[in-house]
Amino acid sequence: MGRNEETGTIGFIGLGTMGREMARNLMKAGHTVRAFDVVASAVDAVTSAGAIAASNPADAARGADIAILMLPDTPQVEEVVYGPHGLLAAPPSGRLIVDMSTISPVAVRRMHRDLKAAGIGFVDAPVSGGPIGAQNAALSIMAGGDAEDFVRAEPYFRAMGTTITHVGAAGAGQAVKLCNQLICGINIQAICEAIALGRASGVDLTQLRNVLLGGSAASWMLDKLGPAMIEGDAGAGFRIDLMLKDLRLVLEQAQSLAVPLPATGLVTSQYLEAKAHGEGTNGNQALFRVYDRMTNRADG
Ligand code: NAD
Repeated sequence: MGRNEETGTIGFIGLGTMGREMARNLMKAGHTVRAFDVVASAVDAVTSAGAIAASNPADAARGADIAILMLPDTPQVEEVVYGPHGLLAAPPSGRLIVDMSTISPVAVRRMHRDLKAAGIGFVDAPVSGGPIGAQNAALSIMAGGDAEDFVRAEPYFRAMGTTITHVGAAGAGQAVKLCNQLICGINIQAICEAIALGRASGVDLTQLRNVLLGGSAASWMLDKLGPAMIEGDAGAGFRIDLMLKDLRLVLEQAQSLAVPLPATGLVTSQYLEAKAHGEGTNGNQALFRVYDRMTNRADG
C-alpha cells in the first residue's frame, strides 16, 4: 500500500484465535487478505468472510504488499520465514514482513538481519488485548524494527488496534511484550489468591470482584477473567500453554541479562502445576484450579 492509497493486499499466515479476528478486521477496513494456515478449517473461518485461501506461505505472499504472521511460537515463525515455500525465498511484492506473534527477541533480531540482507523489511509487532481486543480491533500493538518499515506497516496496524507504538529497534516489540506478560501472569496469580482467601472467608465472590474493580486493586484481568474464575469456567481464552511459552521467554531474557525475577519464577511453577493436571489447553483463568487443589476443594 502506497502512502496515498487506502487499501492493500495482505498475506496473512496463522488464522487461530487471534489471527482470524485480525484478518477479519483488515478485510472490514477494505484490505484484501490471502490466508494460509496449516489447519484447513482455520482458513475456512476467514474465506467465509471474503479472504482468498492460499496453499503455503509463499502463495499467501504472492502479489501482496505485506505479510502478517500470527503464529504460536518461534519455531513456527522461523518455519514460515526459512522453511519450504518460506518468505525469505518468496517475499511479498512489497518486501515487508510483520510478525505479530509473541516469540524470542533473539530470534527476531536474527530474522531481521537475514531478511534485511535480502532487502526485506521485518517488524516485530506483538499485541496485547486478547481475543476480545482482536475482535474489537482494539489491540495494543508494540512494534520493533526500522522506522521506515514501521511507517509502512502502520496503516494495517490501525485496522487491528488502537494503541500503536514504535518502541525501538528489532526485538524491542518483543521485549515490551515480555514485560506485559510478566505483569499479566503475576496479576492472574494474585487474583486467584484473593478469590481463594475470599471464598474461605465466606464472602460473596461476585461482590468481592465488583468492590475490587472500583478500587486500587482493579485490573484488566480481574475485569475480564474474574467472572470465569468465580463461575469455575476454565475453558476458553488465552491458553495456559501459550502463557507458559511467554513465561519461558521472559525468564530466558531475564537470565541472559542477569535480571532476577523471583515472582515470575513462582508464577511459572503455578502454571506448570496447572499443565501437569491437564490444563494446558484451558484458558489462563484455569490457574484458579491450582488454588482449588491447594485448598482441597472437592471440585478442584
Ligand atoms: P492459536 O494457536 O489459536 O493460532 C495459531 C495458528 O497458527 C493456528 O491456527 C495454527 O494452526 C497456525 N499455525 C501453526 N503453525 C503454522 C505454520 N507453520 N504455518 C501456518 N500456520 C501455522 O494461537 P493464538 O491464540 O491466535 O496466538 C497467536 C500468537 O499471539 C501467539 O504467539 C500468542 O502468544 C500471541 N497472543 C495470543 C493472545 C491470546 O489471547 N490468544 C493474546 C496476545 C498474544
